[in-house]
Amino acid sequence: MAYSINQDQNGKLKKVKLFALDMDGTLYLGNRWILGAEDFLAAIKSGGRRYTFMTNNSSRGIGTYISKLESMNLRAAEDEFTTSAKATIWYLNREHPGASVFLMGNSSLKEEFLKEGINVTEEGDPDVVVAAFDTELTYKKLCVTCDLVREGKPYIATHPDINCPTETGFIPDLGSMIELIASSAGRRPDIIIGKPNRTMMEYLISASGYAPDEICVIGDRLYTDIAFGEKNGIMSILVLSGETSYEDLLASDNHPDLVFDSVREIIPLL
Ligand SMILES: [Mg+2]
Repeated sequence: MAYSINQDQNGKLKKVKLFALDMDGTLYLGNRWILGAEDFLAAIKSGGRRYTFMTNNSSRGIGTYISKLESMNLRAAEDEFTTSAKATIWYLNREHPGASVFLMGNSSLKEEFLKEGINVTEEGDPDVVVAAFDTELTYKKLCVTCDLVREGKPYIATHPDINCPTETGFIPDLGSMIELIASSAGRRPDIIIGKPNRTMMEYLISASGYAPDEICVIGDRLYTDIAFGEKNGIMSILVLSGETSYEDLLASDNHPDLVFDSVREIIPLL
């Protein structure tokens, strides 16, 4: 399948009201804006549309992203983020209201859960186990998590990513921990919340108030960002400014609706 790059022949972009934006590889690389990304964000807003920054990474709180964007001269509000952590809290309130939760996660995530009224507990007999990207993981916490999973507690994971890219290479993300826990406890999560899965989309629709045909996902990864759109019937745009090359796209089973070199080329078509 061939793709025309930097084109929107059927005027699909005109109908979009909410852009759900991946960050790394789509808007910035490390600490640097991708050329034109700031103008793209401004153009969305000046056209009366909205955007939300989307991330699966549940190791960092939204405050970390707000500070990072601020250091790059962009002011972002807390409600402009769609994270796997927020989607998990939303899911817990819907499916397990009032439940006590054992959290395998960083202390900043624990604070976010507590702030949102989730009953996080480290003692006793919790109702539910939530596994997140825990960069403060201790052997003791891992043992408790495995015990609870082995006992058959409802088991929720915030996202499926196997590795997390950093400036110096890959570090093992929650997907790797899910495999470790499965080896010991013999179970995988009952549900995984983050992209490309359905719950993250249900949360996005519920929190934003937009209909599925008013939303467009933009990202640089085929198997997460584009799959997220495809699996859930949402328009998707691949940008070639991150980890995916045009050759990767041609070899892939994932098919974005539109393809652009970067978000900069989208601006004149908004
Ligand atoms: Mg990305």
